[in-house]
Amino acid sequence: MKNILKLSLSTGLILFLTLSAASQQSQPAPVKAHQVKGSIYEVKGGSGANTGFFIGEKEVLVIDAKMSGETAKQMIEEIKKLTSNPIKYVVITHSDGDHVNGLVGFPKNINVVAHQQTRKDMDAAFKDPAQRAYLPDITFSDKLKLHLGEDVVKLLHFGRAHTSGDVVVLFPKEKVAFLGDLLFLGRDPLVHRHKNGCSFGLVKTLKAILELDAEIFVHGHENIASRSDVEGVMNALQEKQNKIKALIEEGKSLEEIKKIFKVEDRPAQPGRRRRIGLVETIYLELTEKK
Ligand SMILES: [Zn+2]
Repeated sequence: MKNILKLSLSTGLILFLTLSAASQQSQPAPVKAHQVKGSIYEVKGGSGANTGFFIGEKEVLVIDAKMSGETAKQMIEEIKKLTSNPIKYVVITHSDGDHVNGLVGFPKNINVVAHQQTRKDMDAAFKDPAQRAYLPDITFSDKLKLHLGEDVVKLLHFGRAHTSGDVVVLFPKEKVAFLGDLLFLGRDPLVHRHKNGCSFGLVKTLKAILELDAEIFVHGHENIASRSDVEGVMNALQEKQNKIKALIEEGKSLEEIKKIFKVEDRPAQPGRRRRIGLVETIYLELTEKK
């Protein structure tokens, strides 16, 4: 009896140590701006995705807003260390909370710029009046040019991909592009079916990105990528699509295909939607078309 108690106590202790180590690991890194090229910076740390900003002659353009007002304010402090120019634009790459929920930390007089579908998604998600004050005031469908003095920033949409309102932010002079979540390194591409994302559209979008005159690719959740990183992600995704297509033609079921790719679905967390993995997404896209 005593031994069992001892055992369960030590198991508890190990569990406690593991949990506290995990919580230490999940402590977000401090918010910090890193120069990408010229006047273009990436902001890492805090809660939410990587963001960025460009210091123009008279104004600042920000890309994405982090996940909380508090982190957004820390990002603004980072900008203030480098320039006294005011923030004029916040361009949103897509509507996911880790990219937009920090908008409430920005001054009221900014212009929020987004794809028209992203505005619709945000309109549905933003319930609080404090949030609704930051719904995008400038929207577009395919492309939009913003001029900051002599500098041009191009916003481009190539169709359904990670969501159905993704925007690539291109700085032509510096050959830098911000991709939001159109690129993930070291994990499967993420396609939000609930936001009308599409894996075949993602391939098309990555192809269009590779046709841009850009060399440096900043994205939402990892270190800066090169052209060959983008190519690698696109090729791997296409290869997976082709393999799944062949398996469907052989008459394999979704369950069998999942097994072949060693996909193990985790049950949905209470109150949240079930995560549909990439293999299932591709399967559904291929079988829906028929
Ligand atoms: Zn996202």
